[in-house]
Amino acid sequence: MHPSNHHKLTTCSTCGQSLENSASPIEVHSETGETRRRCAACLAKEYANSITTVEQADRLNTELEDLIARVDRLIEQNPDTPTGFTSLAGLAATPLNSFRTLLIHLAEVQSRRQEILAQDGSEARLAYEIRQAVAEEDYERAAELKGQREHAMQIRHRST
Ligand SMILES: [Zn+2]
Repeated sequence: MHPSNHHKLTTCSTCGQSLENSASPIEVHSETGETRRRCAACLAKEYANSITTVEQADRLNTELEDLIARVDRLIEQNPDTPTGFTSLAGLAATPLNSFRTLLIHLAEVQSRRQEILAQDGSEARLAYEIRQAVAEEDYERAAELKGQREHAMQIRHRST
């Protein structure tokens, strides 16, 4: 391995943060064989950026909260055994570390959800509001929103 490449793997390839004590895996590009590692924050950001709908964000939010609750119980039931010995791999794999990683992901998912909803008049927001209105059996509001969406689509169609 090239020395500079090796050096890169101890810091996040995106933000440069130190990856000591981090459980981040080494990623290998399928074609170039290039390696990189990224910190939990950068991984969480990328994870959240792939979310396109509010429902998707809600589902991931629920799953993450569920996982966090389970890891929380695990930490409570199995407090760290104070042997005095630590290893990097051991440190990276502790439930506490997973807990932090999950919390970072949850925060990113929630901010992405807000971001989608903040795009006023966006298709994602309108689609979400239509489904909400239908769920609440407010068909008048649903029809009104559908009209808005059609209008928005026509404008976009004309501009392309
Ligand atoms: Zn980073």
